[in-house]
Amino acid sequence: MSTVLGAIADDFTGATDLAGLLARSGARVSLRIGVPEGPVEDAAPFEVIALKIRTAPVAEAVAQARAAQAWLAQAGARRFFWKYCSTFDSTAEGNIGPVAEALMQATGAQQTIYCPAFPENGRTVFMGNLFVGQVPLAESPMKDHPLTPMRDSNLVRLLLPQVTRDAGLVDRLTVARGVDAVRAALAQAAPHVVVDAVADSDLNVIAEACRDAVLMTGGSAVAMPLPDLYRASGLLQDAGAAAVWRAPDGPALVLSGSCSAMTQAQVARYAASNPSYRLDPLALARDGVQPVLDWLAGQSGAPLIYATAAPDVVRAAQDALGRDKAGAVVEDALGRIACAARDSGTRRIVVAGGESAGAVTQALGVTRLDIGPEIAPGVPWCAATSDGQTVALALKSGNFGTEDFFAIALEMLDK
Ligand code: ADP
Repeated sequence: MSTVLGAIADDFTGATDLAGLLARSGARVSLRIGVPEGPVEDAAPFEVIALKIRTAPVAEAVAQARAAQAWLAQAGARRFFWKYCSTFDSTAEGNIGPVAEALMQATGAQQTIYCPAFPENGRTVFMGNLFVGQVPLAESPMKDHPLTPMRDSNLVRLLLPQVTRDAGLVDRLTVARGVDAVRAALAQAAPHVVVDAVADSDLNVIAEACRDAVLMTGGSAVAMPLPDLYRASGLLQDAGAAAVWRAPDGPALVLSGSCSAMTQAQVARYAASNPSYRLDPLALARDGVQPVLDWLAGQSGAPLIYATAAPDVVRAAQDALGRDKAGAVVEDALGRIACAARDSGTRRIVVAGGESAGAVTQALGVTRLDIGPEIAPGVPWCAATSDGQTVALALKSGNFGTEDFFAIALEMLDK
């Protein structure tokens, strides 16, 4: 089977989010962590490559995305999707635009759309402005994100400094008029086009209008209609239903390096009735991770270890250590803790935070994820091999899930 759609995600939870939504169609979806080495083996109709380039230097992000695109093309893909966060996480020096331009060049695409809307998770785009729930992006908790504080809500304005060619908008009034109207508007539009969407029905219109586009970019939701559209047009012959997914037996652990508002609520909720340990970046920098491992060794149940903290606490750690060092100390600790837990028998791990999940999977040496059942919109359980053991991983993007997400995820595997 050769690949129909090749997707590149800028972080790990973004990749699992996209893979989970594509898998809703019943089609087989494979997620590779990093660009696979060597020749293409066992390609699935939907291949998603997870990179960790959201906040990487532009040149590095572009180089990795190009390598991923080349591998996907070898797997047979003639259509590509560039997946970033539904809150458009980036800075003026960010990678969303430069990677899109590099992929346009590599694939010969003359134009691409930008559609981060994910209505099911409260992310909508209206007149080019991204909303998180009922508030504009720049008034949402994203304004205080540790790595990519979002201080503007207008996607065209956010995109322009990131690209060398012009950017425009196909607005909701056009999307509301249907597929032909969107196609006609795109034909007149700039090379980079933000497209409004406030409901799944808008995403269906946009996906259909762009069905034959060589390159689409966006959050995960606008890709969700693609499997059915490909089936209808005969591109996807056989859904190749994935084998039955089974979670490995063994103890569970929850790791959180996310400082998103929803994760803070989830951590508070779970910590109220489970053993929990708060990671302090300063203590980690000073004493290393051994005290945490000693604590973990004495726990039973499904403990929580978290660096999750309020913006002022994060800022204090960043002032003391530097922003990058504070993040790196936490990510390194989460990776070491995950490996130690695996070595002592843990087989089910929930990780909150995109960067954090990237660090944990990298430390576990995981290269491929088999997409399983969805816990919450955009968050599937996955199975992976780590050091010869099958481990179930739930990689949760910061703002996803409800307050009881951790308990729901773990209970799901016991059913
Ligand atoms: P989210 O985007 O949901 O906040 P991520 O894991 O993508 O989650 O990003 C959070 C970043 O903040 C990571 O680099 C993490 O290491 C860092 N971080 C987490 N806790 C703290 C803390 N207490 N102090 C400083 N940085 C932190």
